[in-house]
Amino acid sequence: MTPILTYDVVVSGAGLTGLAAAHTFAKHGYQTLVVDRDQSPDTKGRLGADLRTVALSPVASDQLQDLGVEMPSRTGYIDVMHIWESDGSANIKMTADEVHEPHLAIVHENEAITTALKTRQHDGLEMNLNARVTAVAENSRELHIDDIGTVQTGFLVVAEGSNSSTRQLLGTALDIDQNLQEHAIATLVKTDRPHQDSAWQVFGPTPLALLPIAQPDCLSLIWSLPNDVAAETMELSDPEFIVRLNHACEQVAGEVKEVDRRMSFPLRQRLVSDFNPLPWVLIIGDAAHTIHPLAGQGINLGLEDVRAVDKVLDNRPSRLCKPNLWRTFNAKRKFRAASMVHLMSFFSSIYALRSPYMRLLRNTGVKWVNANDGLKRQLIREAMGLGPIASVS
Ligand SMILES: Cc1cc2nc3c(=O)[nH]c(=O)nc-3n(C[C@H](O)[C@H](O)[C@H](O)COP(=O)(O)OP(=O)(O)OC[C@H]3O[C@@H](n4cnc5c(N)ncnc54)[C@H](O)[C@@H]3O)c2cc1C
Repeated sequence: MTPILTYDVVVSGAGLTGLAAAHTFAKHGYQTLVVDRDQSPDTKGRLGADLRTVALSPVASDQLQDLGVEMPSRTGYIDVMHIWESDGSANIKMTADEVHEPHLAIVHENEAITTALKTRQHDGLEMNLNARVTAVAENSRELHIDDIGTVQTGFLVVAEGSNSSTRQLLGTALDIDQNLQEHAIATLVKTDRPHQDSAWQVFGPTPLALLPIAQPDCLSLIWSLPNDVAAETMELSDPEFIVRLNHACEQVAGEVKEVDRRMSFPLRQRLVSDFNPLPWVLIIGDAAHTIHPLAGQGINLGLEDVRAVDKVLDNRPSRLCKPNLWRTFNAKRKFRAASMVHLMSFFSSIYALRSPYMRLLRNTGVKWVNANDGLKRQLIREAMGLGPIASVS
C-alpha cells in the first residue's frame, strides 16, 4: 500500500493568490504543498506581450518582493490615471506625485508574474502543477489529489479562482452570485503616441480601461460589454474593431492603430458565505470573492487576503485549525470583500443611467472630487492599498 503523504498545509490553486499564500505558509515554517492543473488558454499575444495583465498596487508589489520573488523587469508603470465618463465633460486626474509615491500601480503580464512566483523556491514548499483536488474527506482531513493519491493535511487553503470545484465539494454557500450578463474583452492595442506611463479608465454603460505596458506605444485593454454586444464585437475584423474602439474610448490615449488577438471572459460577482467554513479550511482570492474588473482590484483583494493570513501566522498559533482562530479574519475579510462587490455594483448602476440629469449630477460630483485635494489624495491612497480601509488591521 502506498503511504499517505502528510503536509501541514495544502494550497489548492496556483494562481497569484494561491502561490503567494503557499510562500507565506512556507515562510512561517509550515510544510506546504501547492497543487494546480492549469487549463487556462494560451494568452501570448501577437504584439509580443501577454494579453492578460494585472495592475498590482505598490503594497501588493512590496508584499511579493518581501516573499523573495524576483519581479519581472518588463513592466508598465501607472504614474498618472485619467478617469472620465464617456460623453461626459468632467474627469479626474490622479498622479503618483500627489501622494508622494513613485507609482500608482505596476502593470505585470499575468503569465510573467505567475511564473516568477512559481520559480521562487522556499524551504518546506513543494509544488505539483499537474494535479487537482478531486475529493475531500471532511472528518479525516484527507484529500484525494489526482496524480498524487491520498494526502493528509492539517490545513487546506482553497485558492482555485471564481469557479472553485473544491468550494463546491465542501458545499460552501455563496451570499452573492450575480451573473452580470457581460463579458470582458482583453487584448493589447498599439496607439500613435506613447502612453508616458498613463492609464485611462472610462466609465459608462460599457466601461473600459487602457493600462500602460512595457512597450511605450502599447496598452492593455479591458472592455466590459453586454453579452450580445461582446459576442458581436469578438467577431469583428481587426479594422472594424479598431473603428469601434476608437469611437468608444474617444482616442484619449491617441488613435488606436493596431490590435492584438482578443480574448473574452464572462463576468460575475460572487461572495462566499464563510471564508473559514470548517476550522481546517480557508477560502481566499477569487474563490472567496469575484468582483467586476472595472477598477482592476481583483488580484489586489486576493493579495490583501494573504497579508491578513500573514498577520494571523505572525502570532504563532499553536494549531492552524484551532477553533475560532480565523473568525476575526473571516469577519474582516468578508466585510472588505462585500464592500468592494457593492462598490462595483454601485458604479455599474449609476453609470448605466443615461438621463441628462443623472449625467449632470455625476459630472458635478466628479468635478467636486477633482477639486477637493484632500479627498482625492485619500481616494488615491485607498486605491493604492495604503489607506485605512485597504490596510489590513
Ligand atoms: C478580463 C479580466 C481582467 C482583469 N484585470 C485585472 C487587473 O488589471 N488587476 C487585478 O487586480 N485583477 C484583474 N482581474 C481579476 C484577476 O485576474 C483575478 O482577481 C485574479 O486572477 C484572481 O487570482 P486567484 O489566484 O484568486 O485566482 P485565479 O487566477 O483564477 O487562479 C486560480 C488557480 O486555481 C487553479 N484551480 C482551479 N481549480 C482547481 C482544483 N480543483 N485543483 C487545483 N487547482 C485548481 C486554476 O488552474 C488557477 O491556476 C481581471 C479579471 C479579468 C476577467
